Amino acid sequence: MTAHEIVSKIKSKKLSAEELISQALKKAKIVQEKYNAFITIDDKAINKAKELDTKISNGEELGLLAGVPVVVKDNICSKDLRTTAGSKILETFIPPYNATVVERLEAAGAIVIAKANMDEFGMGSSNENSAYGIAKNPWDSSRVPGGSSGGSAIAVATGVVPFALGTDTGGSVRQPASFTGTIGFKPTYGQLSRFGVVAYASSLDQVGVIARSSQDLALAMEAMSSHDKNDSTSIKNTNLEFLKSVASKKDLTSIKIGLIKELCNEGNSDDVLGILQETQKQLEGLGASVETVSLENVRYGIASYYLVAPAEASSNLARYDGMIYSNRVGENSEGQIDIMMKTRGELFGPEVRKRILMGSYALSAGYYDAFYGKALKVRKLIANDFARAFESYDFLMTPTTPSVAYKIGEKTDDPLAMYLDDIDTVLANLVGIPAISLPMGQSKDNLPIGIQFFAPALKDETLLQLSNIIEQNSTNFAPIVKI
Ligand code: GLN
Repeated sequence: MTAHEIVSKIKSKKLSAEELISQALKKAKIVQEKYNAFITIDDKAINKAKELDTKISNGEELGLLAGVPVVVKDNICSKDLRTTAGSKILETFIPPYNATVVERLEAAGAIVIAKANMDEFGMGSSNENSAYGIAKNPWDSSRVPGGSSGGSAIAVATGVVPFALGTDTGGSVRQPASFTGTIGFKPTYGQLSRFGVVAYASSLDQVGVIARSSQDLALAMEAMSSHDKNDSTSIKNTNLEFLKSVASKKDLTSIKIGLIKELCNEGNSDDVLGILQETQKQLEGLGASVETVSLENVRYGIASYYLVAPAEASSNLARYDGMIYSNRVGENSEGQIDIMMKTRGELFGPEVRKRILMGSYALSAGYYDAFYGKALKVRKLIANDFARAFESYDFLMTPTTPSVAYKIGEKTDDPLAMYLDDIDTVLANLVGIPAISLPMGQSKDNLPIGIQFFAPALKDETLLQLSNIIEQNSTNFAPIVKI
């Protein structure tokens, strides 16, 4: 069921929350067995469902998401529920508070049933960097589900929940959505609060939603977005009305879409290029005009991102030193420095250690201007390219990733190849604009292919409208994968 259907069944008492949540937990366990989608499944969710049922029988007012089971990525703090960020260093961390996004979902009546598997601290594109085991793609379990929000994408693709939260620093919501045939939405930077979200690269991080229906996406955004005084980068007065606007347009008449030339040719698989062409035709059929547009600096996106993100990560991750709240390796008698070195050396995985080293190097005296400073200048040039293009186009469009989900282990020995695959997605984070991946078709071997759309900052609603129009005019859009 979609979230909309669940809420209406709960409100009309056709279904009790307890029944529904117990079904969701049961399914989560099956999906866990097959695909390792979760780090923690929370059986206590049943108690929350019972509380909701009592509220219903007392005739109390119910929220927008009454009884909807949700899955939350394991780098988003959930009160009294373990939050590991996919790392051994936080294996025993139980947050004493909820992230604002979780707080708001729960206030609207949603029930968190599980915390999703992910690449450690969000660093990765395949879920292979999780300290809790590799997650598998339900379309083909010999393939990766994408990352870093791979577990969230699996939970939605298999129908455990109608939507899940992920985080997107360079594509971690959109790329797994593309690999699992779901919708992945990264809002404008500052649209959703980052309070209580484990920081990876703070100037790029944004919470995002993975869903199977555009209306559900709107429901989730409606429940979560509005200014949060606990996050200094949270946008004030955006007044976006997701639910009201999502279905307010029926076609794409007078909409102009720019196909980014540099990202829509060589480097993409034939399957992806085929779906890109079909999408263009479908958009034109719905009334849009689609033209090719050149954004000359996008080719430097990866170089800029893979300096800015590790630089910020090296600073953000300094707090995990075994002294205050992370796990510790070593005895007190060994002294502070030894404990810190052992803790960080043994409890961070190899990719995280590598990124801390790269980031520290890029920020170090003598290299700062050459690496980090230059990456920031390039970031600005890319933002200028987008601003210029948005003077003429409502949306810009690229594939979400250059190829379909690859085999587990296929790219682990070639980190550069894996980084390069983020070429389409990192741009939205560098620029701070909203972007969405829509499931537009399948490859010859029946693997899902996502196409990405960018909109100008604060035009988040227009991406949901676009998604809804395409969904309404497609058959089998974001299907549930049979398990
Ligand atoms: N794959 C990118 C990285 O490894 C993006 C990750 C993310 O968005 N969290 O940094």
